[in-house]
Amino acid sequence: MPVTKRKPATAAAVPNAANSRASKLARLGLHSDMDLVLHLPLRYEDETQVISIRQADLMGSSVAQVEGVVSACDIQYRPRRQLVVTIADDSGQLVMRFLNFYGSQTKQLAVGTRVRARGEIRHGFFGAEVVHPTYKVVLEGAPLPSALTPVYPSGEGLSQAYLRKSIADAMQRLQWRDTLSAEQLAALRLTPFEAAVRLLHNPPPEVDENALEDRSHPAWVRMKFDELLAQQLSLKRAQVARRAKNARALPQIGALSDAFLSRLPFALTAAQQRVLTEIRTDLRASFPMQRLLQGDVGSGKTVVAALAAAQAIDSGFQAVLMAPTEILADQHFRKIAAWMEPLGVTVAWLTGSLKKKEKIAAQALIESGQAQLVIGTHALIQDSVQFSRLGLVIVDEQHRFGVGQRLALRNKAATENGGADGESTLAMTSNFVPHQLMMSATPIPRTLAMTYYADLEISVIDELPPGRTPVVTRAVDQNRRDEVIARVHAAAQDGRQVYWVCPLIEESEALQLQTATDTYSMLAEALPDLRVGLVHGRLKQAEKQDVMDAFSRGEVQVLVATTVIEVGVDVPNASLMVIEHAERFGLSQLHQLRGRVGRGSAASVCLLLYQSPLGSIARQRLMTMRATTDGFEIARRDLEIRGPGEFLGARQSGQAMLRFADLTTDQWLVDQARDLAQTLLHDPAPASAATVEAHLARWLGGREDFLKV
Ligand code: ADP
Ligand code: MG
Repeated sequence: MPVTKRKPATAAAVPNAANSRASKLARLGLHSDMDLVLHLPLRYEDETQVISIRQADLMGSSVAQVEGVVSACDIQYRPRRQLVVTIADDSGQLVMRFLNFYGSQTKQLAVGTRVRARGEIRHGFFGAEVVHPTYKVVLEGAPLPSALTPVYPSGEGLSQAYLRKSIADAMQRLQWRDTLSAEQLAALRLTPFEAAVRLLHNPPPEVDENALEDRSHPAWVRMKFDELLAQQLSLKRAQVARRAKNARALPQIGALSDAFLSRLPFALTAAQQRVLTEIRTDLRASFPMQRLLQGDVGSGKTVVAALAAAQAIDSGFQAVLMAPTEILADQHFRKIAAWMEPLGVTVAWLTGSLKKKEKIAAQALIESGQAQLVIGTHALIQDSVQFSRLGLVIVDEQHRFGVGQRLALRNKAATENGGADGESTLAMTSNFVPHQLMMSATPIPRTLAMTYYADLEISVIDELPPGRTPVVTRAVDQNRRDEVIARVHAAAQDGRQVYWVCPLIEESEALQLQTATDTYSMLAEALPDLRVGLVHGRLKQAEKQDVMDAFSRGEVQVLVATTVIEVGVDVPNASLMVIEHAERFGLSQLHQLRGRVGRGSAASVCLLLYQSPLGSIARQRLMTMRATTDGFEIARRDLEIRGPGEFLGARQSGQAMLRFADLTTDQWLVDQARDLAQTLLHDPAPASAATVEAHLARWLGGREDFLKV
């Protein structure tokens, strides 16, 4: 039936506005009264005092609130369109500039209007000046607020005033209940829920502002504790739920595993051996493994993954390995196929750039079960790919995949067909979950991994294969580029190879490409006796492959590359890496890039070219890179510099569970929350079960599922 769109009646204008505000609230995740009540201030503004304009001017570039009457209000066009409003009090005048403004503001701020304005007041060319102050129109003698004014995390089109009102209304409607009992509160010395929340939204005048600011105030501690408790409860429950699921037990460590190990040209390091034992034990179980294999770049995760795959194959099941880029998938394919195919294993290869015919052939191999090992990119998660007997999923560089992508691959075992060998004629779908091994060279500090992933076992390779010499790292001002080029030349003369990484330009892919091409021409010209190659994300797969192959074979001596080479690429003869505009890269990215050298026995060097002057964060990063090659240490410092939210990125964490707690400072609370979670879950009393439910509902709402991936 066709749906006719009716024009809203004029009377509907108000409800529509309300609707759109509601949807803006929803975009912030604020659906219920409790959501609103738990939408806590980011910070506070002190609007309890007004000082004179002259006093503010003399204070010099600090935030202050003044009050005055508008004496002029014009739109000016120099240097660009802006609203310029002058206000005056008895002591002097202040120019307020608005670069973004609504036409209606000229009326609102008409000459003669009294306003209270707050912002960073500077002494400019024309006297006291402030850009984009917050302001409100007031009547003479209007009372000042007696408490600090909360500033909430907001979204586009949602004013602070509207948020404040919505939250205040929600606090009135809410049926206040503490999820913790009085005894529990007393034992943990925690503030009651309602008191804590009310204080944070409306701090009394005598509150310790510093404690609010750094979130050490008991009211904040209560919020952080609650949040951590919810997380710990959910983590423990996810663990229980996983253990209740079915997976194919992969008990055989047989002919393939043995032959594979005995043919390796090296012995496993003790750390590789240890994590392999952990994985092997998990794979024997009939509930799914969910394990993160962490190991610094070059620590040798691939061979461990291949041995896990060998166990699946020895046990009669398929294994799949997914990598985030074609270059990396291809490298895995070659390496692992070279190891496995001579031992009689059929390895299939599937990526987006395959021709249609090849794709269909690969899919047929996978679906029939003939392919025992499948290697590819995210092309593997398409619907048309069906497995016959999928036992193990391996995801390399897992932080590069979204939560949804990992989940899609895992779900492949549930949609597999009956199996070509007729073993399973029972059902077309199975309720088996494959074992999952995720690998990452971006080391996540243990506390973070534990608190951000609902349920994950962790194995760490904490040792590099023998014979590696640590990479020497230097920061070099880019005006010394000539010396750097001379160094590149010398390295090539010595039979070594060089990566030259192009600057990251996040705002524009086109510009990034341009820079890569320019850099390539510049180097090709400066080094006429060397072969210079160029690889970037826009090349066709075959072209990319040709360049990478030539580099692997040593025919290309200098590889100019964008960050497509960031992950995984393994060319042991490369021993010099130049990273241009290193100040634009994050720490973990620099660490990943640097990990491309120092893979062979030659002493390797990494030159971080930077443009001065350096900002303080960039300086800290470069200093960290110079100081250490230990990925875990780098991760720890990265966490300090950036904080956990950014550290993991939205892609990785799904929706980060922790809004208030800070793992760098609140570890003691994590421990307490973990203990209470343990107690609550093991207590058979119905009251405890009720507490668990109420607490999870309050803090996680619908978000829990996302974290089980
Ligand atoms: P990553 O952990 O960064 O994925 P790779 O698996 O690519 O590292 O391994 C890096 C290099 O080290 C590879 O060339 C690999 O063959 C080699 N390698 C792995 N394990 C050992 C070992 N135990 N002894 C010597 N070399 C090893
Ligand atoms: Mg790797």
